[in-house]
Amino acid sequence: MNMKRGFYIGRFQPYHNGHQSVLEHIAQNVDEIIIGIGSAQLSHHPDNPFTAGERVLMITRSLASLGCPFYVIPIEDIQRNALWAAHVRSMAPPFDTCYSSNPLVVRLFSEAGVDVQSPAMYERERLSGTEIRRRMLAGEPWEDLVPREVARVLTEIDATERLRKISQND
Ligand code: ATP
Ligand code: MG
Repeated sequence: MNMKRGFYIGRFQPYHNGHQSVLEHIAQNVDEIIIGIGSAQLSHHPDNPFTAGERVLMITRSLASLGCPFYVIPIEDIQRNALWAAHVRSMAPPFDTCYSSNPLVVRLFSEAGVDVQSPAMYERERLSGTEIRRRMLAGEPWEDLVPREVARVLTEIDATERLRKISQND
């Protein structure tokens, strides 16, 4: 019997409860999940503070009890949107369906003939990477927007201090 694999991509700067809810939903519909870490080459930038390896850690620990096998694949950007879907497929295990609500991702995979499904958004006002980075910089509580394991990783790497430093001018 063929394995049904689902693909989910994000920058995960950082990985948060919205991503976790989507993946728990996808896990009910597929045999295996592939999680692509987009813009893998970026880190130490106000909009992209964390390395691909740190993001692997956040995701792997948060999904330890998912109950569905998963692979986490860092994917670097290429500066050619027209070739991007093929680039992703060259890096990931074969998959049947891409789950994404990002209009560009949906469009690029659809044009490449990939089946795309758009999961619902969970509390989008609160649950976004932009909001979490804003709260970190403002010194506001952010821990309840991410899985416990992510809060632990971010504390371990002194994320708030990194974000502050890389957001300053000389
Ligand atoms: P940023 O604000 O930095 O862009 P983000 O929260 O949008 O962060 P991404 O890593 O850009 O997170 O998104 C990865 C995928 O997760 C995208 O397809 C995005 O639409 C989806 N996503 C983001 N937030 C939520 C949410 N609250 N509920 C469901 N899906 C979400
Ligand atoms: Mg986004």
